[in-house]
Amino acid sequence: MMPIELLEKPQTLQTRSNAPAHDAHGRRINYLRISLTDRCNFRCFYCMPEWGMQFAPKPELLTNAELIRLVRIMAQTGFEKIRLTGGEPTLRRDLVGLVEAIANTPGISEVSMTTNALLLAPIAQQLADAGLKRVNISIDSLNPESFRKITRGGDLTRVWAGIEAAEQAGLTPLKLNCVVVRGVNDHEVLDLARLTIDKPWQMRFIEVMPLVGVAEVADNGVVPSNQLIAQIEAEFGLDFLGWYGADPARTYQIPGAQGKLGFISSISDPFCATCNRMRLTADGKLHLCLLRDNELDLRAALRGSGSDEELEALIRHAVWIKPWGHGLPDGVKPTVRGMSELGG
Ligand code: SAM
Ligand code: SF4
Repeated sequence: MMPIELLEKPQTLQTRSNAPAHDAHGRRINYLRISLTDRCNFRCFYCMPEWGMQFAPKPELLTNAELIRLVRIMAQTGFEKIRLTGGEPTLRRDLVGLVEAIANTPGISEVSMTTNALLLAPIAQQLADAGLKRVNISIDSLNPESFRKITRGGDLTRVWAGIEAAEQAGLTPLKLNCVVVRGVNDHEVLDLARLTIDKPWQMRFIEVMPLVGVAEVADNGVVPSNQLIAQIEAEFGLDFLGWYGADPARTYQIPGAQGKLGFISSISDPFCATCNRMRLTADGKLHLCLLRDNELDLRAALRGSGSDEELEALIRHAVWIKPWGHGLPDGVKPTVRGMSELGG
């Protein structure tokens, strides 16, 4: 694996405080996305290269006990919302037990998950019973053959079964994620948007980002959200519902539709000013900005002699030094982690 930029342990550890963590730019950071594994049962072409993926050996991954301890400490620093992601989070053993433990952590108000849904149907109800509130499901095409090509082997029928099971289990409001890539699935945007007329789902269109291993997909593949909005508006009409809040999606609705549309414009209109999140990689690094390399190693402290107080101080330090925004406009691309390690 390429070298990771590990930030120095702070010289002076801040003493424990009950104040929720803010960064140096005044943003309150209260949302943690946890990558439970860097492995996946798909190989989406915009996320992972087809060959040559190297996965973290199991001993490097945080154990359930380490994760649960970390979530407890993160909650003490003001983190309230947790999203489980991956790689593919449903590959993690004892996912249901982990969800239950995280959902029962004092201070955690919501546990959600982003999944490709291939394995979701049989466990959706158990996850809901364990305390999972909602799921986001990736679906980039409604055509089984295109879906198979985009995901390099994915079975759309099973994904639909996962979507239906999630709905039945009450893992709602359901959000569906589509990464739009020019010349690959941009011709399906109207059909995907049409799903929201009869279903109370939020269909979200995401601009493809240049993560490690797949950066060339974004070189000519980005379809700016404004172009999609104009296209959908010309077909169905569109009502604007809201700008970014804590959610990075701008939301719209087809008049009279049951569901909504969301547009995530990380490239054409970054939402860094309202960013409220950090990411924990499966191997225990706190990753400070999706599109930058800065990380802080929590696993070393967890497995060393770090006390809860020291870990809390490290987390507060990481929040404080969270970069203001990404560097894509200046040509600075991430160089260390792929999206399947960071969880989107
Ligand atoms: N495997 C799960 C899934 O696909 O939903 C969770 C992990 S995946 C990395 C999380 C999200 O990142 C998915 O919605 C996926 O579509 C999105 N994603 C992956 N690669 C991307 C890229 N290069 N640009 C933008 N979004 C990407
Ligand atoms: Fe796997 Fe999700 Fe990446 Fe697709 S987007 S390869 S399902 S981690």
